[in-house]
Amino acid sequence: MIRLNVQTAKHTQMLDITAQVQKAVTESGVKNGVCMVFVPHTTAAVTINENADPDVVRDFTTEINKIVPWEDGYHHMEGNSAAHLKSSMIGFSENVIIEDGRLVLGTWQGIYFCEYDGPRSRRVFVKILEG
Ligand code: ZN
Repeated sequence: MIRLNVQTAKHTQMLDITAQVQKAVTESGVKNGVCMVFVPHTTAAVTINENADPDVVRDFTTEINKIVPWEDGYHHMEGNSAAHLKSSMIGFSENVIIEDGRLVLGTWQGIYFCEYDGPRSRRVFVKILEG
């Protein structure tokens, strides 16, 4: 398993980690297989979405904050229930096919680390399976 470090800078943020994940794949030497990306946090997530127009990420962040407001009479003592909810809604893992040593993503797709209670130092686990 490969551990990637991700430093977020904002409370809610989507960081494009495609290059870091591709680097892990390249260094593994695996040419064909599957790359599993897992986020071991309860207030962060990982997703795949458009990395061409930065407004997509901006709209995504704005809308998810509307769907799950930060304050809404939650009971959780830590005060970050909204982050826990968003984390589960978006999800903790993604699988990407590897072909000829490259992640197989659509033309406009990138892998995003989603921060919902930052800024924090985070980790992403990557497992590369050959086959
Ligand atoms: Zn909490």
